Amino acid sequence: MESKLLAEGRDPMGQAIRDYSEKGRAGRLRVFSPQFDEDELPVATLFRTEERMPKLERVALDLCRGRVLDVGAGAGCHSLALQRRGLDVTAVEASALSVDVMRRRGVKSAVAADLFDETFSGCYDTVLMLMNGSGIIGRLERMPRFFRRMKQLLAEGGQVLMDSSDLRYVFENEDGSWDIDLNAGYYGELEYRMRYKQVEGVPFDWLYVDFGTLAFHAQANGFRAELVEEGVHYDYLARLFPAT
Ligand code: SAH
Repeated sequence: MESKLLAEGRDPMGQAIRDYSEKGRAGRLRVFSPQFDEDELPVATLFRTEERMPKLERVALDLCRGRVLDVGAGAGCHSLALQRRGLDVTAVEASALSVDVMRRRGVKSAVAADLFDETFSGCYDTVLMLMNGSGIIGRLERMPRFFRRMKQLLAEGGQVLMDSSDLRYVFENEDGSWDIDLNAGYYGELEYRMRYKQVEGVPFDWLYVDFGTLAFHAQANGFRAELVEEGVHYDYLARLFPAT
């Protein structure tokens, strides 16, 4: 499942990105999850300029160096910002529709591939994963595979910059007690499904991970995790290095 590109007819976000890039506006990109009420992802957010990015993302851009891989690059907002700074960026994105848009917007190197597909290869000084970048890992049990993949893609001395959120605030009551079913697995493991106009996406796993849990799995897989900066609402930016 994971090593496949998103088919156009099953790619609601890609369709929304294409509409927005062609018409300057798009319909509602709806997000469903068994764990949450229906939500909406404002499509304009995917086209944010550097000035409109949250602080964590701007800090991440400042820390990028060398050859950068922008993972799950979407409409290319971070790739474009980094190109403007003169960095050598490759965007990798599972949505071919989004890759088309990125190329038209001026992203020089945009590849339609799944991050976990090993036929996609390269050597990068920075792997950038933003907008809950940990989501692409999917589930905690896939941490070993994720770190193996990072080892394949990182140059000597390379780094991964990733943002995520601790979803504990969703489950914590005012009195400090928790509405978490401890038998239900880790509370940051969500399942999402998107819909845009008539286009219905395939359900996918999306991982939110608190920093402590990320650091634990990093260490178990030969990496070191550093908390670079905390955001305003349980979100944070982490840096991961192979522990040589
Ligand atoms: N980073 C962008 C987009 C975030 S949305 C931004 O900050 O605006 C997440 C993107 O990741 C989507 O475009 C989705 O198609 C892509 N994606 C999800 N899983 C992926 C995978 N395994 N490999 C490559 N891209 C992936």
